[in-house]
Amino acid sequence: MNAKALVREDLAHIWHPCTQMKDHETLPLLPIKSGEGIYLFDFDNNAYIDGVSSWWVNLFGHCHPYINQKIKEQIDTLEHVIFAGFTHEPIVRLSQRLCALSPQGLEKCFYADNGSSAIEVALKMSFQYFKNRGEKRPFFVSLQNSYHGETIGALAVGDVKLYKEVFEDILLQTLQAPVPKDQSEEAALEAALALEAIFQEHRGKIAAFIIEPLVQCAGGMHMYHPLYIKRARTLCDAYDIHLIADEIAVGFGRTGKMFACEHAGVSPDFMTLSKGLTGGYLPLSVVLTTQNVYDAFYCDYSEFKAFLHSHSYTGNPLACSAANATLDIFENESILEKNREKIAFMASKLDAFQQLKNVRSIRQMGMIAVVELDEYPIDFRVNLKIFTYALRHGVILRPLGNVVYFMPPYVITCKEIETMMNVAYEAILSLNTL
Ligand SMILES: *Cc1c(COP(=O)(O)O)cnc(C)c1O
Repeated sequence: MNAKALVREDLAHIWHPCTQMKDHETLPLLPIKSGEGIYLFDFDNNAYIDGVSSWWVNLFGHCHPYINQKIKEQIDTLEHVIFAGFTHEPIVRLSQRLCALSPQGLEKCFYADNGSSAIEVALKMSFQYFKNRGEKRPFFVSLQNSYHGETIGALAVGDVKLYKEVFEDILLQTLQAPVPKDQSEEAALEAALALEAIFQEHRGKIAAFIIEPLVQCAGGMHMYHPLYIKRARTLCDAYDIHLIADEIAVGFGRTGKMFACEHAGVSPDFMTLSKGLTGGYLPLSVVLTTQNVYDAFYCDYSEFKAFLHSHSYTGNPLACSAANATLDIFENESILEKNREKIAFMASKLDAFQQLKNVRSIRQMGMIAVVELDEYPIDFRVNLKIFTYALRHGVILRPLGNVVYFMPPYVITCKEIETMMNVAYEAILSLNTL
């Protein structure tokens, strides 16, 4: 099929995620033919820099020769096996490595196949942990402006209106604590006080507090100080509440450290991982938890305390082989160290945006750089304008409302960072003349 036929047949049969399909009457869908490194290619061989890592999943570029090879080796050995009652080498190796890499105390891995499902697992485990101990704790606390996925349970702990509002009537009751309003220590301390008030008011009724450590990605790349996580850990300990760190977006080096919790020196009771876990290749997610949580489910069958949660594709060996290959690259190529130069370079380029008159603020956390524009009316569709301009100039950017951000694969060079950020600069500048 050529590109034109693909678009026609796509629109005839497919409903795309996170999309008002009517937009495609005027905004052409872009068929991608191939990928290599940070570039995606269309059917006319135009190259596009993948500035959003294909929805934050891609770490080492598209069609990475080493990851490709490892998946090919695995597919000729074992493609999949039921994961209840059976195991396989890729998942055992992966679990050893994840436990060794993750914050201290996380010793057990429970697998699923996407981020939202990992959130469901963590919530259910936390709830049942207390139930198995003879307590009923119906509440979860999350942060205002948080995003944890779009299945019903994950939506309930989220707080982005765009996704949640329609379904409000059928969601679990949850409590939202104020998120620190900026990256200062004062804001962190102020928000921690508000959190304690909630913990106090609902003492004995809260199972878990869930956070996106340091960066609320879908919530407009909102950032806060690690001190807040430290305080939250202390409060969770004091009130006997689980801390769930949702590192689905910020894990695997995005914030400059392997896991964002490391900035605070904190170990959560649950850590959820997905997105970068397979380098952006295959769907896989995991919940890491403690021996203590595991032990609360460990008993004779007749006590009915087992954790009953399963997905058909739990622990898929192909996805695990991609994850192992991803961890190999982290180890063999000192990725976190090499990213430091790129992080500093992004910071230097980011400064220039401050001069633009429609820029409200800039911020950065590791490999995530953000330019927040002034508010525009909804029907101005500022994000669509930036997206379209950048695409025409060979860069994929997908602003969240008025928040333009860069989250490129780690194999990007400083020169390519410059190209990507220059296009964004011009795109923002062009808003003034529209
Ligand atoms: C993307 C995301 C999720 C949901 O993951 P899916 O694989 O899209 O279901 C959950 N939490 C955070 C922080 C995310 O960024």
